[in-house]
Amino acid sequence: MHTGADVAVIGAGIVGLATAHALSERGASVTVYERGVPGNAQSGGESRIFRHAHDDRRLVEFAVRARRAWRDWEERFGAELLSRDGVIALGPAAHRRLEAMRSAGVRAHLIAAEELAGHLPLLAASSERAVLDEDGGAIRTRASIDALTTALRPHLVFDEVLSVRPLPGDAVEVRTGGARVEHGRVIVCAGRGTAALARGAGLPLPLRQAAHVRLTYRVRGEAPDRLACLLDSSGAFGEAGAYADPIPGNAAYAIGLADTPVHEDGSLIEAGALETIAERTTAYAARALPGLEPEPVDVRHCWVTELTWHEDGFAAWELGGLLIAAGNNLFKHAPELGRVLADAALGDGIPPQLHPEAKLGAERFESVRPAG
Ligand SMILES: Cc1cc2nc3c(=O)[nH]c(=O)nc-3n(C[C@H](O)[C@H](O)[C@H](O)COP(=O)(O)OP(=O)(O)OC[C@H]3O[C@@H](n4cnc5c(N)ncnc54)[C@H](O)[C@@H]3O)c2cc1C
Repeated sequence: MHTGADVAVIGAGIVGLATAHALSERGASVTVYERGVPGNAQSGGESRIFRHAHDDRRLVEFAVRARRAWRDWEERFGAELLSRDGVIALGPAAHRRLEAMRSAGVRAHLIAAEELAGHLPLLAASSERAVLDEDGGAIRTRASIDALTTALRPHLVFDEVLSVRPLPGDAVEVRTGGARVEHGRVIVCAGRGTAALARGAGLPLPLRQAAHVRLTYRVRGEAPDRLACLLDSSGAFGEAGAYADPIPGNAAYAIGLADTPVHEDGSLIEAGALETIAERTTAYAARALPGLEPEPVDVRHCWVTELTWHEDGFAAWELGGLLIAAGNNLFKHAPELGRVLADAALGDGIPPQLHPEAKLGAERFESVRPAG
């Protein structure tokens, strides 16, 4: 048994890496335990959407702070990590969320159907007015993970954590495949592995698990200079929950629709469900995005861990010296969430809005102005 770093972070996905980076920036000694390859689980793949649009205004404001933190990282790491090409949103959710964005100072507004092609030349002709989030864009996930992993390399321990246990006096015991270590504080950011570690420490989490598939299609012809991300809740192209974003270089576009529930042990409830979703995705691509080649050139499968109060919800739990973070759609928020978790571990405590009782993500923003 030996005493380890001030703070241990379990998981080297985007949230764990962002947290460890913030801790080391604050001068804390940190260890990051990772049982696989950094950034290859829920944080895997080439791209993600950074959007400000959320039902809960608190998340819009969180996204505004996260965007600033992304820009800080870009300066820190000397690389573009978040494109400036915007996010196009179609459908009722887009219009409902516009007011919350505007009241939080986000540069978002309605654009006419004929302006759409300027931002998203791949899209089929549409009569819909759209919402343009000018400050949104595509996250360069590989560049982000690589920059953080390189900066934190000396602190990475490649081993599986089997259990975390708060000890009297706030220290926390970590048991890995090859060691038993006591740390001053431990922060669990283990994605799909979080529920098991939390339960082992006596804290069952309100999490729903699912499996997801996302397909990537090549852009026909020249890659456009600018390419916005897409959120489509319109149903105009046969699906009411589609999202899509460009791969770095804009020569390909990744599309996702839905996920499929799994049993508690992680096994799929419906064996063929991912294939069915993949077929629906290719059919959607053909209808909505004729600027793409018809056949997918890449696939991403992953687990989804969602808090039961909202698909965008996240929260942090505290058990003595142990902090546990969980939620979904976290990539965009990671630079800010990492800072908040680091500050919490270094004595600031968990901010009220991240307390589970606050149900961050679930509060529906009601516009003060009449609709239309
Ligand atoms: C296809 C897809 C599209 C998405 N689109 C978006 C989007 O557009 N915008 C957005 O913001 N979010 C999006 N998300 C969600 C986002 O990617 C995730 O919420 C985020 O990446 C989660 O990061 P994480 O660090 O919490 O988890 P992970 O990346 O899963 O990291 C957890 C790490 O912990 C390690 N680990 C687990 N258990 C243990 C253990 N016991 N011991 C040691 N190590 C352990 C794992 O190996 C893993 O590397 C999307 C996700 C997917 C899959």
